[in-house]
Amino acid sequence: MVNIQKKLFSSKSKIIDLKNLSDKSIKDSIRLGKISQYNLENELCKNNNSNYIKATRIRQSLFREKSGNNFKIPIDKFNSNNFYEKILNKNCENVIGYIPIPVGCIGPITINKEVCYIPMATTEGALVASTNRGCKALNNGIKSYVINDGMTRSPLVNFSSVQRSIEFKTWIENNFDLLKKIFNSLTKFGNLKSIKCNLAGINVYIRFNATTGDAMGMNMLGKGSSKCLEEIKKYFPDMKILSLSGNTCTDKKSSAINWINGRGKSVIAEAIIDKNIVKNVLKTDVNSLIELNYKKNLIGSSLAGSIGGFNAHASNIITSIFIATGQDPAQNIGSSNCMTLFEKLDDGNLHMSVTLPSLEVGTIGGGTGLPGQKECLKMMGINDTLLAGGNSKKLSMKISGAVLAGELSLLSALTTDDLIKAHMKLNR
Ligand code: NAP
Repeated sequence: MVNIQKKLFSSKSKIIDLKNLSDKSIKDSIRLGKISQYNLENELCKNNNSNYIKATRIRQSLFREKSGNNFKIPIDKFNSNNFYEKILNKNCENVIGYIPIPVGCIGPITINKEVCYIPMATTEGALVASTNRGCKALNNGIKSYVINDGMTRSPLVNFSSVQRSIEFKTWIENNFDLLKKIFNSLTKFGNLKSIKCNLAGINVYIRFNATTGDAMGMNMLGKGSSKCLEEIKKYFPDMKILSLSGNTCTDKKSSAINWINGRGKSVIAEAIIDKNIVKNVLKTDVNSLIELNYKKNLIGSSLAGSIGGFNAHASNIITSIFIATGQDPAQNIGSSNCMTLFEKLDDGNLHMSVTLPSLEVGTIGGGTGLPGQKECLKMMGINDTLLAGGNSKKLSMKISGAVLAGELSLLSALTTDDLIKAHMKLNR
């Protein structure tokens, strides 16, 4: 051990020639506290990208020894196409490998007159096949509309009296233009739309709401609202900033505020399904679908006290597309808020819609730029040719179309009791 230390550190305690040491020597020096495992890449890879794999291998081995479990997470080919360089210091820390997730494809499905193929990354057998069956029944196409757009962040501040909280709220309402100027000065693509204060005693929850171009926008909102707080503090020196997020945003948690007021993109998709297609492709009938949707998705979910869960499995489709396209997968919670509706038209055909008030998506930032995820976005027709904001809206509309297909297929399977049969065949 002493020899290793001598090899590792010069008299000035500078790290020397780490890349020529064996895995064992490096692990020993980590155990001695001379190198941090989280800093391995910086130490090992200065002039040699191939050492990324070495860093990952050493870290995995260390965690294997620490945990006493003989696990082996895939590492080989991790850095093909310089993948590792792209995630380093950006997408993940303490990296020990990667897990492959299969990507399935549904389509063709026509959304807003564009023929689409949509990637779904999942390990849930039957999901892709079922959603694809929904696509087949939607041969009249789907129309989708973004009816609202705005990402939110709610810092939490407080004062020593309710009177001060109320004075603060009034000041914010009267000084929106000043704060908008400050917020917008930090970004070429963000645009502050509103600020709403919710009061609870002496606590104030300041909900900033902004359009964010093609970005999902959480970092943009964080940066902008933080800068606004700095300015506000000049006018309210007695304001205590308790947190940049006070949970009325609401990010990655179930909440009525997103269900009612929206967050990210608020989208509605609709389609008309011919009664003969319902019979021949979906093997059910219009009345059975309407009744099941009413009793399951509306009454059943109400009985369960659901917030935004008035659907059969919107989250299945949304999460799989989120993973395929590099969205923040934890945002599947608010994004899966969905109300599925079936109505019978005068001619006996079926009108179907899905209303998604809080789809939190982006086509730039986060994991969207990684090679595989970028290709999945490309497959969905997302490219740089649209005006800023057009791509993320397009993505949200395509996701809503896929949700509609998924809802139609599952609800049809439930009316005919085909669900368990399909799962036994495809998901075992
Ligand atoms: P971001 O990558 O932090 O910001 C987007 C960047 O892209 C900005 O610098 C923006 O320029 C630039 N940009 C270039 N073209 C653009 C276009 N057409 N539209 C919009 N922006 C464009 O992305 P973000 O969406 O704000 O944040 C996403 C990340 O936040 C994800 O990694 C997610 O996991 C993470 N996240 C953060 C929090 C949090 O609380 N901070 C919470 C959840 C998730 P400008 O600088 O001019 O705007």
